[in-house]
Amino acid sequence: MTQVVATNETILVVGGGISGMTAALEAAETGKQVVLVEKRPYLGGRVSQLYKYFPKLCFPTCGLEINQRRMKMNPNLAVLTMAEVTDIKGEKGNYKASVKLSPRYVNDNCTGCGDCAKVVEAEFDDEYNYGLSKRKGAYLPYLMAHPQRYVLDPRIIGTEDAEKAKAACKYGAIDLEMQEETVELPCGAVIWATGWRPYDAAKIQPYGYDRIKNVITSVELERMADPMGPTGGKLLRPSDHKEAKKVAFIQCAGSRDHNHLLHCSRICCMASLKQATYVTDAFGDEADVSVYYIDIRAIDRFEDFYEKVKANPRVKLIKSKPASVVENKASGSPVIHGVDTEGYHRYADEHDLVVLAIGMEPSVDADSFPVPIVVNREGFIEPAPENGGIFAAGGASDALDVNRAVQHATGAALRAIQVVNRVAGMEG
Ligand SMILES: Cc1cc2nc3c(=O)[nH]c(=O)nc-3n(C[C@H](O)[C@H](O)[C@H](O)COP(=O)(O)OP(=O)(O)OC[C@H]3O[C@@H](n4cnc5c(N)ncnc54)[C@H](O)[C@@H]3O)c2cc1C
Ligand code: SF4
Ligand code: SF4
Repeated sequence: MTQVVATNETILVVGGGISGMTAALEAAETGKQVVLVEKRPYLGGRVSQLYKYFPKLCFPTCGLEINQRRMKMNPNLAVLTMAEVTDIKGEKGNYKASVKLSPRYVNDNCTGCGDCAKVVEAEFDDEYNYGLSKRKGAYLPYLMAHPQRYVLDPRIIGTEDAEKAKAACKYGAIDLEMQEETVELPCGAVIWATGWRPYDAAKIQPYGYDRIKNVITSVELERMADPMGPTGGKLLRPSDHKEAKKVAFIQCAGSRDHNHLLHCSRICCMASLKQATYVTDAFGDEADVSVYYIDIRAIDRFEDFYEKVKANPRVKLIKSKPASVVENKASGSPVIHGVDTEGYHRYADEHDLVVLAIGMEPSVDADSFPVPIVVNREGFIEPAPENGGIFAAGGASDALDVNRAVQHATGAALRAIQVVNRVAGMEG
């Protein structure tokens, strides 16, 4: 049975992406007791799936590692992975949360040696790589995953593979009897940091994501560019694995659109400019990048990065919202059709690969929150008094880049600290 010490002076943080990690650390480092609940088997959220960060083009793993080190050193912080909050009762300063823990089937003895994965045969789509590759039924989600503990996919439990994995483990780390459990946690305030999910590209029918192999999304390109990713860092066409040198980005794919997401997702102009550099870095003078945009939103200090990418002769910026993408059946290449709104010329441009700069939507639907919560038109959590002691952090509050998500999460930590301080004051 999992034991977690908590009282109504505890702050519960839901979601262990960069925002949840930040909020949890900021609160724990002021001496507050914090429980961080993450539904995946590891921390880091979607940032861990990015190859590089704009505008500095540094690696996200660096910042994540610093946070992980801070977490390990902090005795005030308890982390529960594979955990979800199913219910919250009570009021500001006095909540009780029900947290469902899914079995990992691997205990703390795991050394990460990988022997179990070697003997397991079953393979499944690797969600970390957005299904671009397969992973074993016993797996470490990714090389730098925190905690560094393997996971057994529940689909192999009861099969010969599970027994083989257990037999291969020299450290007694595999426990096939682990069961789902629910723990009840008292807490005074809750920080909701469940982040975002990529908009379902298949819903944007004219762009053919569900029909044309060489139309992919921006989140998939991040995984492809990563040397630890499904293609070993090579930019390849999914249809024939040829190098993708002529790459087009379609901006506002699913954002700023009455049929899809109404809001501007804020980061996707910058993400595509960053990804343009993945192509130019990989292919130099042979690279041919086109960015189809309505307007480029490069706010504040991002303007310099925009100007730098724009100055590269290998990158063309075309002011146009493409009408459709069709496949050249002979070559498998996607052809973008539309009208250039600066010259009003019709175009039909063929590319090796088309990348949809997909929008960000809240990862939790308003209807599936465990408590009534005020959300805005787009489904992001509003800072409303009706939410009591529940505060959104980062991507759960809006489509934000990492810098802004971290700042927002720090603010949420302060709000939560104020609530539990009042509880402590009343009890003291
Ligand atoms: C293509 C692309 C490229 C990008 N590149 C950059 C970049 O270069 N620089 C930059 O600054 N920003 C970039 N961003 C934006 C960046 O990804 C976000 O700013 C960041 O992910 C926000 O972090 P977060 O913690 O708020 O959300 P997330 O990263 O979504 O983390 C949320 C966490 O909550 C967990 N969770 C969800 N629901 C539950 C639940 N019910 N219970 C428990 N846990 C839950 C999730 O598993 C996840 O771990 C990019 C975005 C896209 C789409
Ligand atoms: S579960 Fe056992 S075999 Fe698998 S990685 Fe951990 S220690 Fe190694
Ligand atoms: S950031 Fe750019 S691509 Fe993304 S929705 Fe806004 S304008 Fe469109």
